[in-house]
Amino acid sequence: MNAALSVKGLNKYFHEPDTFQVLRDVGFEVKKGEFVAIVGKSGSGKSTLLYLLSTMDTDYEGSITIDGTTVTGLSQNELSRFRNAHIGFVFQFHYLLPEFSVLDNVMLPALKLGKKPKELIEASAMELLTMLDIKGHEMKKASKISGGQQQRVAIARALINEPAIIMGDEPTGNLDSKNTKVVFDVFRQLAKEKGQTIIAVTHDDEFAANCDRIIEMVDGKIMS
Ligand code: ADP
Ligand code: MG
Repeated sequence: MNAALSVKGLNKYFHEPDTFQVLRDVGFEVKKGEFVAIVGKSGSGKSTLLYLLSTMDTDYEGSITIDGTTVTGLSQNELSRFRNAHIGFVFQFHYLLPEFSVLDNVMLPALKLGKKPKELIEASAMELLTMLDIKGHEMKKASKISGGQQQRVAIARALINEPAIIMGDEPTGNLDSKNTKVVFDVFRQLAKEKGQTIIAVTHDDEFAANCDRIIEMVDGKIMS
């Protein structure tokens, strides 16, 4: 089967302050190269779901298979390696290293993965910065560029290891409409041309409407 992501029977509970079931029998599949939006009211469980899918939270019932690997039950070491090689994650806030250059921020995950020589990594980073319209700013400190540029740098960083799957929790949540369009178009292009799979939580109706599919969450359940 050609699923980039397959989720079965996910249940998730929080136990503080009281036991509360935040995800209820969540199951769905996303095809390779599909660009999917996850929508739903605040508190419906979108971020919790994305933390599970991105393997950062392992406390759940059910199973998650990403890019052919069932990640449920893997050790923290195995997960960390898997994440670095297969998943790109973009948050609403960019979490760049402010004192490092834009270029260094983008290169870092690839240097950490250690699979390619530095010159190749640098060339890929410059390609991504060009695609995200930040070329010319690569030697500046990350703290010295605008918020919209910082978020686009964070996206370049998430893409540097050519992840099979890119997950974003409101990746355009802090961006104006012009920057949002740049990011949307890059995601669209990656899905179409490189077969990368995109899953983005969004509150932006226009963004969601232009994705291939919308998954709606209501009270921890999938509606569509
Ligand atoms: P969304 O991203 O859709 O706004 P979240 O996944 O952040 O929703 O939260 C879903 C529900 O789980 C909310 O009611 C939230 O208060 C609760 N929640 C989130 N994180 C925790 C936590 N660490 N402990 C207890 N409850 C939590
Ligand atoms: Mg959220």
